[in-house]
Amino acid sequence: MTHEIAPADPIQAPGTREEMWRAWPRLTELPRVEPLEAAGPARTGGLVVVAAHPDDEILGAGGLIAAHLDAGHRVRVVLLTDGEKSHPGGPIPPPVLRARRIRETERALAVLGSSARGREAGRVRPSGPEVGRVRPLSPEVGPVRPPEPEYGRLRPTGTQSGPPRSSGTDTGPVPPPGAEIVRLRLPDTEVAEHEASAVAELSALVAGFGACAAPWSGDVHGDHEAAGRAAASACASADVRYVEYPVWMWHWARPDDPRVPWKRAVRVDLTPERRRRKRDAIACFETQVRPHAPGRDDRVILPPEEIEHFLRPYEVVFR
Ligand SMILES: [Zn+2]
Repeated sequence: MTHEIAPADPIQAPGTREEMWRAWPRLTELPRVEPLEAAGPARTGGLVVVAAHPDDEILGAGGLIAAHLDAGHRVRVVLLTDGEKSHPGGPIPPPVLRARRIRETERALAVLGSSARGREAGRVRPSGPEVGRVRPLSPEVGPVRPPEPEYGRLRPTGTQSGPPRSSGTDTGPVPPPGAEIVRLRLPDTEVAEHEASAVAELSALVAGFGACAAPWSGDVHGDHEAAGRAAASACASADVRYVEYPVWMWHWARPDDPRVPWKRAVRVDLTPERRRRKRDAIACFETQVRPHAPGRDDRVILPPEEIEHFLRPYEVVFR
């Protein structure tokens, strides 16, 4: 979700509290769509999720990813950048931060896939907490404890893909099918400068898939908007159905905000069990949910009040 500091940046200003969104009836009354058909009736089963930075895909489309993994569909996550500039001047050097963020996405996707198949098909009853009892995520309490990064195991160059390793969480009797991760390694905060090459690469990466989800092109974040434009262009050329997911919008917009295309918004409900998996997946992003040094007054990109927007029992996409 990386963002740069700029004066008068709406992302830097205090955000809209989740209670305000919760109290807005139109949000809960949005048209409901099935997660496997969020982008329209699918011609094939696969889903591509484009992320500007590692974590966008989980925040904005974690429920969609879980639903597709549960259905046995192929899921490909394309990271346009590695998010290495989320903490400029911080104690973690960008190359180390890059490695950690990639590992966080690998683990988060493994968590999302950890109970795929079986439970949602009704063979095993969901074991997660009920919707009303899902506890808020706190930076101190995360069900997933990623070990220290193992930089040597991270392939350092080129487009990278492959299934994530198991996170060590309760995976049940079914091996996690996982999602494929493809990294384009564009420089963080500079996606717009590389938009043409992103379109070219994405056109090949979405081809043959049933649907694609990407950051909303109006998210008021340069990388997110460029990612959205690039994905839209790629999907148009590859004839792939496409939806946009907002991330920072929940921070800077207000209920009934005229800058938001509410008429294109639909709601994708999460089962309680998928919602629990999404919460656990978000907890994997330790570099974003915790300060980088003990006791240090460091900038936390995803404090609990921001995470609350993404722990709802539904996701909202524009189509
Ligand atoms: Zn982002």
